[in-house]
Amino acid sequence: MKSALFYGGKDIRVEEVPIPEPGPGEVLVRVRSAGVCGSDLHNYRGNRPASLSVPWQQGHELAGEVVSLGEGVTGLSVGQRVGIEAEHLVGCGRCRHCAAGQYHLCPDRGVIHGEKHGSHGFSEYDVCIARNCRPLPDHISFDAAALLDCYACGVHAVNRVSLTPDDTVVILGAGAIAMTLGQVAKAYGAARVVMVGTRRAPLDTAVKAGSADEVIVNSEQDPVEAVTGLTGGDGAPVVFETVGGTAQLLGQCMSMARRGGVVSVMGLFMKPQSIDASLGMQRELTVQWSNSFSTWRGQSEWETALNLLCTGRLNPDPIITHHYPLDRIADAFAAADDKRSSSAIRVMVHG
Ligand SMILES: [Zn+2]
Ligand SMILES: [Zn+2]
Repeated sequence: MKSALFYGGKDIRVEEVPIPEPGPGEVLVRVRSAGVCGSDLHNYRGNRPASLSVPWQQGHELAGEVVSLGEGVTGLSVGQRVGIEAEHLVGCGRCRHCAAGQYHLCPDRGVIHGEKHGSHGFSEYDVCIARNCRPLPDHISFDAAALLDCYACGVHAVNRVSLTPDDTVVILGAGAIAMTLGQVAKAYGAARVVMVGTRRAPLDTAVKAGSADEVIVNSEQDPVEAVTGLTGGDGAPVVFETVGGTAQLLGQCMSMARRGGVVSVMGLFMKPQSIDASLGMQRELTVQWSNSFSTWRGQSEWETALNLLCTGRLNPDPIITHHYPLDRIADAFAAADDKRSSSAIRVMVHG
């Protein structure tokens, strides 16, 4: 089968590798869609974690069809269309975090059979843990199912901030995480979503997609003043940061939050952030981080995302802008890496 092998940085080669065999409790999946995630781009931009040996495979936002079953698999059948919860999130099942259902916090997260593991969605086939696969109704496309990883991150972030229906929610950023989060926040009853970005075009898409009600282009107006103005001088009860990187944005989020408000950080900052701690004290702000997803009060957050998708409360299509065959994965990554020139939001690769 063909699989994309990552040799570090921009060196991605599609090579012939053996089709893997599903072990006990696993299924072989013919991958139909795999999204290029912001975390995939960290490696592409040269920030490769030391735990990866070269070449590696990746692609954790995937969906496809079951083609064979490993020993002891029940509840799935050959030919079934499935969404797949990413395997880098599998916990050890024994530590205090796993016992509490918070497997995203497991110190051995993603270690399977003693080895660091992840999904290989940028391949024609991938072996997946059967209990991480859920059948998809016919009306849910593979592309939409491949976006569930993003939606589940949004479900987790929204669960952690405890939204109330009269909340104005501010989202910094206009990428796929921001757009999926905006839709989840609306599904959870947020009164109004205000999205802050650097370019007009993705913000317009966000409004069309139902991810935002109002937008602020931060080159046209000061975002802190704009949010203050939109909230009657109070600031927002909930501010989500989805950008990360090297910019100093955490302080800006705190300046947008109202007294007693919450700042939720979903972006991965690559530089220490300097913040005004006295502002945090004055407003008694809560700053929290939101990393991936797992369960919330006993319910799988990935399944919550799937349920929201299946009942029509999410709108993935406008977020999925670009499609490439596996052979052109280098072009897919280039488009995802330079969204300003490509106008990409989420890029899908089809094996
Ligand atoms: Zn992802
Ligand atoms: Zn664990």
